[in-house]
Amino acid sequence: MLGDGSVVRAGQVVIATGVRDELPAVPGLAQRWGHDVVHCPYCHGWEIRDQRIGLLATGPMSAMQALLFHQWSGQMRFFPNGTEFPTAELDKLAAVGITVTPGPVTGLEVTDDQLTGVRMQDGTRIEVDALAVPALTRARLNGLEGLGVEVTTSAAGVAVVADPAGHTSVPGVWAAGNVVNPSMQVSEAAANGARVAMTVNTELVLQHADHALQRRQSDTGRV
Ligand SMILES: Cc1cc2nc3c(=O)[nH]c(=O)nc-3n(C[C@H](O)[C@H](O)[C@H](O)COP(=O)(O)OP(=O)(O)OC[C@H]3O[C@@H](n4cnc5c(N)ncnc54)[C@H](O)[C@@H]3O)c2cc1C
Repeated sequence: MLGDGSVVRAGQVVIATGVRDELPAVPGLAQRWGHDVVHCPYCHGWEIRDQRIGLLATGPMSAMQALLFHQWSGQMRFFPNGTEFPTAELDKLAAVGITVTPGPVTGLEVTDDQLTGVRMQDGTRIEVDALAVPALTRARLNGLEGLGVEVTTSAAGVAVVADPAGHTSVPGVWAAGNVVNPSMQVSEAAANGARVAMTVNTELVLQHADHALQRRQSDTGRV
């Protein structure tokens, strides 16, 4: 059913609804999202190169993500923000020159529409020009819950389970792009969509031929 209440009938459905990025509960993050609060070193690294970059941890993968952002700047700071990390991982960050600042982050400082710093719970203000936040991602399935497709939950979030051709756990329901794998960038998501479209088309053509054969056999009385 569409938003205007009309109903579209289809024998096959491809879910390509992407993900919802879930940010930690620090006020102001959503307003800066995609500007100077960013999530991906491969999408935003060049734009924030050589700046004072902070990384706000959101889970166990965040120390590794700090190393990826560190390629772009020698002024990198890591905020565990309550997540526990093995000492060996924190030592690795320190060894490459990333400053680790413990304690909860409670807010952002923004001046003239530019991020200038983060506020710590103890009142300290730490200057940063960009804040990396590896958001958790949740497959967008609003309105599609009734299909009952299998989803998988990991440290990165929730994704629809589909094979490389796009088959989900429900026959006739397919999935492509970020809804299946949130780490796909635009080119990969588009290629995945094209691949799934080819498979859907192939299966429809084969199904059509099977039905034609069945009709022909029943018309001629052959079994
Ligand atoms: C801040 C940011 C920066 C990024 N920068 C880059 C970059 O520089 N380079 C790069 O390659 N990738 C980048 N990415 C990743 C890129 O956005 C994704 O790889 C890509 O958008 C995935 O495409 P998709 O079609 O799977 O999902 P989406 O692009 O999310 O498309 C899903 C669409 O489905 C719609 N939709 C959802 N639910 C419904 C519904 N119920 N009914 C109808 N429509 C619905 C959504 O509104 C949306 O238009 C960035 C991502 C973010 C968040």
